[in-house]
Amino acid sequence: MSLRPIVKFPDPFLRQPTVAVGEIDEATRALVADMVETMYAKNGAGLAAIQVGSDLKIFIIEASIAGGDENDHPIVFINPTVEWLSEETETADEGCLSFPGIYVPIKRSLRARTRATGLDGKPFVAEGEGLYARAMQHENDHLNNKLLIDYVGPVKRQLIKRRMEKMSEEEAAELQSVGE
Ligand SMILES: [Zn+2]
Repeated sequence: MSLRPIVKFPDPFLRQPTVAVGEIDEATRALVADMVETMYAKNGAGLAAIQVGSDLKIFIIEASIAGGDENDHPIVFINPTVEWLSEETETADEGCLSFPGIYVPIKRSLRARTRATGLDGKPFVAEGEGLYARAMQHENDHLNNKLLIDYVGPVKRQLIKRRMEKMSEEEAAELQSVGE
């Protein structure tokens, strides 16, 4: 297991089309183990494979958000399909590990149902509401290359863009000074 760097906006990889997982093999399990470690290290509630540099259709959601114990293994969604969204919606501030420090209000369905394959290769259906439903919709967006910034108006979009560009310049400068 190892920590992987998070792919941050405006890295174009976040807009890379994702591909379905074929066989769940050793490489898939290693990727998921890295995703789990990285999500915990960054205190994330969920994480999509594309955020750690893989184009596979996989996301994970932290167990306590999914109604389990915080010590349980995160729920692993392989090749997920959101098959139902409630008409009832809720607007809440949402963050994303690819946009550190940025929170935007996003209107989402209050309840969601997702069909996916687990790490054990067995199909399952996950249904949740509130934070769980929101996390499923957010992570599924990643697999469709949709990002938090796509939900805001043009003025706020510019602000977020500038802030993220400044952040990556600062990071690059920091890395350089460490290297010197
Ligand atoms: Zn995200």
